Amino acid sequence: MLVVMEKNATSEQVEAVIHAIENCGFTARPIPGGDRVSIGVLNNDGPVDAGLFISLPGVKDAVAVTKPYKLVSREVQPENTVVTVGEVSIGGGVPVLMAGPCAIENESQALTIARHVRAAGAQFFRGGAFKPRTSPYSFQGLGEEGLKIMARVRAETGMPIVTEVMNETTFDLVEAYADIIQIGTRNMQNFTLLRRAGQSAKPILLKRGMSATLDEWFMAAEYILEGGNINVILCERGVRTFVRHSRNTLDLSAIPVVQRESHLPIIVDPSHAAGRREQVAPLARGAIATGADGLMVEVHHTPEKALSDGAQSLLPDQFAHLCRQVRALHEVLATV
Ligand code: PEP
Ligand code: MN
Repeated sequence: MLVVMEKNATSEQVEAVIHAIENCGFTARPIPGGDRVSIGVLNNDGPVDAGLFISLPGVKDAVAVTKPYKLVSREVQPENTVVTVGEVSIGGGVPVLMAGPCAIENESQALTIARHVRAAGAQFFRGGAFKPRTSPYSFQGLGEEGLKIMARVRAETGMPIVTEVMNETTFDLVEAYADIIQIGTRNMQNFTLLRRAGQSAKPILLKRGMSATLDEWFMAAEYILEGGNINVILCERGVRTFVRHSRNTLDLSAIPVVQRESHLPIIVDPSHAAGRREQVAPLARGAIATGADGLMVEVHHTPEKALSDGAQSLLPDQFAHLCRQVRALHEVLATV
């Protein structure tokens, strides 16, 4: 249930509705909108009687929310969520570009790549310090040293940093360094991690689980919003299918559905979808044409020596070319 207040409702009237909701044993969650406040009714087991709230002063309407997810749904918040980090807006109509290596390997590698992607037009530097690797024998990331290197990259280039958190134990540490905290595909349904992310003041980039339905993805995001963190960015990164010509199958059809069902911004990671360098730019262009709010792309200056995901990393020149194409595509789409 969503209680929609009149445009000119006073804060006392909003408070009175919140109390009325809480008196029924439910949780009230005010959602500030463009020109009016709505109040979500949460933690109800069954349907809520609209008559309980509709006659209260300042209430315009009380509407049932038909989806299992509530705070992430467009029914509850018709306006797009725009996540702002420094001077960059995600979901504000201009595609954002996040780029960098899969893993931070050392300072000179990180800085070299960061300078390249910055010059090409990336607004965020991505890089993993804690890496979820399929094999325990693969490079696991530099840990805190990787975060420190990323902080130096930020200081030198001015680019905010996106990096993955793998568990609750290291959450405080990653949170202290990251500008955007990434939750990876393997952790999309790690509910205790999602709850911790809900308490964070930092935006969360929530990747789609590799076999997750959209409803499961929305419910995972719901955990974070329910915890109080409304700055969630969804990231489509391909799902597991039977095909062998790519690492995963990029589900571009998710983009319009996510945008219809949810107000949250959605970006696309073509690198982990493709798994192969030559597929990355075509998929990235497709994502922008489909309406994604941005891209996250792996880039490496010496991918043959990369400690992780070299095969899918673009060379700096290839990334620069892709950036030009993204800007051109956006221009066309925005003007015709
Ligand atoms: C990554 O971004 O480096 C990563 C591990 O991605 P995913 O969780 O999508 O596999
Ligand atoms: Mn990777």
